[in-house]
Amino acid sequence: MGSPVKMSHVQAHLPPNCCHLVKSSFESLLQGELDFLKGIIFSHTCDVMQGLADIWALQKRTPLQFTLMMPSRLDSELSRTYVKAEINRFKDFLETRVGKIPLQNLKASVQLFNRIREKIEELYHHRRKSPHSISGGELAQIIRAGYLMDRQRYLELLYDLVNELPEKTEEGEKRVPIYLVGNMTHSPSYFSLIEESGAQVVQDDLCSGTRFLRLMVQEDADPVEGLTHRYFASFLCPSKHKGVHAHIEALVEEVHKSGALGVIFLLYKYCETHYFDYPDLKQALESKGIPTLLLEVEDPSYSIEQYKIRIQAFIEMLNPI
Ligand code: SF4
Repeated sequence: MGSPVKMSHVQAHLPPNCCHLVKSSFESLLQGELDFLKGIIFSHTCDVMQGLADIWALQKRTPLQFTLMMPSRLDSELSRTYVKAEINRFKDFLETRVGKIPLQNLKASVQLFNRIREKIEELYHHRRKSPHSISGGELAQIIRAGYLMDRQRYLELLYDLVNELPEKTEEGEKRVPIYLVGNMTHSPSYFSLIEESGAQVVQDDLCSGTRFLRLMVQEDADPVEGLTHRYFASFLCPSKHKGVHAHIEALVEEVHKSGALGVIFLLYKYCETHYFDYPDLKQALESKGIPTLLLEVEDPSYSIEQYKIRIQAFIEMLNPI
């Protein structure tokens, strides 16, 4: 997760045109905040993330480091064989350095993450029916917590939270339904800005949001097979190629299903991966009568008032009454 950290060391190592996720992660390392880590796993995604893996290793502050070499093309049968071999290579790496992973532990972990996805999905579902029960800012914090705390404890807390949600849904004041697209921008401040402007994020396509929910793993299969299969089950991420139209088709369909009247692209500045797809996504949505707004952000943002005015103008345009 990117964090709202003050950049004071990272400029000596990275050019300014790196995305906030990479800059803030490396800044946290340089400030010593991550020295408690025993290991770090990178995934082969965009160029910047690959570069980060290399300069992270040069710092020699994290004892174990591994890069899962996910293929860029997910539309080929050869990629399946490759991903499966890569997952097994990762398993071997962990078993050699940390300890044997019994099959039942792997299965239990798959189940744990699937249950987490289901509970988060329930929260999204509940918010659509009853937007006032959990604010967008609160949902963003709940999701961030999942990346930072023990997953078993997290699931217990999610169960408690879902059980405490009122069964009766309160409609409350009508808000303009919005779909949010972006990278790891699960910062409560953006969600609050959107809601304060009279809108409601009904669904999202954020790296830390519903894209994670699409990664359900088949539980009755061999875990490595299940983990492999999930990467091919739906459109995953703009850093992966699954056909020329895969991202457009997945997004247009999801926006349509969500009932959103408009789409806000909330993208970290300098994220080539997402910006390469953006013009085609914008054109496809607008050709279907779905207006879009692009906000380029960093965290913390020094232009929060400008965003506020632009979001308010966008929401007013969608709901002119
Ligand atoms: S995909 Fe974009 S936001 Fe994510 S690490 Fe790469 S450049 Fe940064």
